[in-house]
Amino acid sequence: MDERVKRDWERCVEFHGHVCPGLAIGFQAAQIALKVLPILGGDQYNPKSGIVSIVQNNACGVDAVQTLLSSTFGRGNLMFRDHGKHVFSFIRRQDGRGVRVALKYGAIENERHQVLRIKVMDNTATPAESEEFYQLHKEISLHLVEAPPEEHFDWREIIFELPKGPKLNLTVQCAFCGEGVMEQRASVRDGRISCPECVEKYESQVLKSAYLNKLISISLSRNALRYRDDDLK
Ligand SMILES: [Zn+2]
Ligand SMILES: [Zn+2]
Repeated sequence: MDERVKRDWERCVEFHGHVCPGLAIGFQAAQIALKVLPILGGDQYNPKSGIVSIVQNNACGVDAVQTLLSSTFGRGNLMFRDHGKHVFSFIRRQDGRGVRVALKYGAIENERHQVLRIKVMDNTATPAESEEFYQLHKEISLHLVEAPPEEHFDWREIIFELPKGPKLNLTVQCAFCGEGVMEQRASVRDGRISCPECVEKYESQVLKSAYLNKLISISLSRNALRYRDDDLK
């Protein structure tokens, strides 16, 4: 491993707190970004203009993206899409050109590692199995870091329309808890402004109610239609 890559990996491990295959996935994805973003077409690349990262999972690898690309929620250049996919897009702020990096399906599959992982998590692994698990865990991670990226990843260029203009962060007051909430996140409940927390509370009370239980049992019943009118009153 060359010196710069080694230092980068150490910084990621320090930030994340342990070595794991997930971190290695994010690490390689970010390395691809560092390599590809400067050589995309269009105007000459200006690293100072910044990178926006869109991550389609919230697993270990995102910590490497934050460490290496300075994409963080606080800076407003990290977007999370809850897709449960090892897919990362990196976009140059200067012109919206970017690269979409996807882990190849099955790229890090290792049957023995999976079997041992379940045992370790269940606390049923013997000391020898536990040791073997952590050894494999480390080996898989380091292989991911050291292998040529095309072995585990596919990537392609993309153009992404970044939102333009200043962000307006208007805050309104929730009528139910009295706290402030960003206007874009507010909803209306009973005709009054509500924050997302108060909307959820409202929904969960409905779920718990006898009314809903009754509704479910009636819809499960074969005679649902016959009873619906009387029972729901
Ligand atoms: Zn991890
Ligand atoms: Zn509220």
